[in-house]
Amino acid sequence: MTNIPKPDPALLEKLAEANRILYDQSIVDGFGHISVRHPASPGHFLLSCNRAPGLVTPDDILTYDFNGDLAVPSDKRSYLERFIHSEIYKARPEVGSIVHSHSQSVIPFGVTGQRLRPVFHMSGFLGSGSALFEIRDAGGNTDMLIRDSGLGRALAQSLGQQNCVLMRGHGSTTVAPTIELVVYRAIYAEINAKLQLQAAALGPVNFLNEEEAALAAASTEGQVVRAWDLWRGRIGPLS
Ligand code: MN
Repeated sequence: MTNIPKPDPALLEKLAEANRILYDQSIVDGFGHISVRHPASPGHFLLSCNRAPGLVTPDDILTYDFNGDLAVPSDKRSYLERFIHSEIYKARPEVGSIVHSHSQSVIPFGVTGQRLRPVFHMSGFLGSGSALFEIRDAGGNTDMLIRDSGLGRALAQSLGQQNCVLMRGHGSTTVAPTIELVVYRAIYAEINAKLQLQAAALGPVNFLNEEEAALAAASTEGQVVRAWDLWRGRIGPLS
C-alpha cells in the first residue's frame, strides 16, 4: 500500500492544468473530472479530491487503486464517481487518461438513444460512433451517478472499445492514451455534438466513414500539442 512510487511533480501539474483547461473550455463546470493512469504503477490512477475542476491544484491530486479506494491515505474527500475511472482503467489497459463530464450538447443524444458520429475531421476519434450507457439496465432506478464498482463495470462494458460513451440522462465519458489527447477528445466531442445537431436539422448527414475517421484522427491527433499549448496559455497560474 505504501510502496507506490510518488508521481512526477510535472505530471501532477499537467493534470491540474488539464482540470483548468476543461473548465476554461466549458467542458466541466462545478462537476466533472479527469484522471491519469499512474505511469510507474499501472494498477493505480491519479484523480483530484472532491473539488471543482477549475480550482484544482497539484496538491489536490490523490492516488487510487482499481477498487476506487485511496492507495495513499488522505483526509481529503473523494469524488463519488471515481468508479468510472477505476473500472475503465481495469478494462482497457491502453487507456491512459479519462474525462467524465456533463457537457451540455451531448445530453440530447443520450436521452434519444442517438450516437455521436464524426461530422468533421476533428472528431475522427468517434470512429463508427459513440457508445451508449443505460444505467437503468445496470442498476434499475438510481440517482444516475456511478457510485460503486458494479455500475462502473457496467459503464466500462458499454464503452467497449470505443473512445466515448454517452450516459443517458447524465453526461459522457471519454478516454485516450494521454492527458493531452483526452482533453482534445472531450472538447471535440462537445463541438461535434453541436455540429451534428445543426446538421441533422438541415437534412440527412453524410458522416465520415470509419476509414475516413481513422485517417483524420491520425492526422489531427498527431498535432494535439499545438492545441494544448493554446489552451494552456488561457489558464491562470496554478496556486
Ligand atoms: Mn457525473
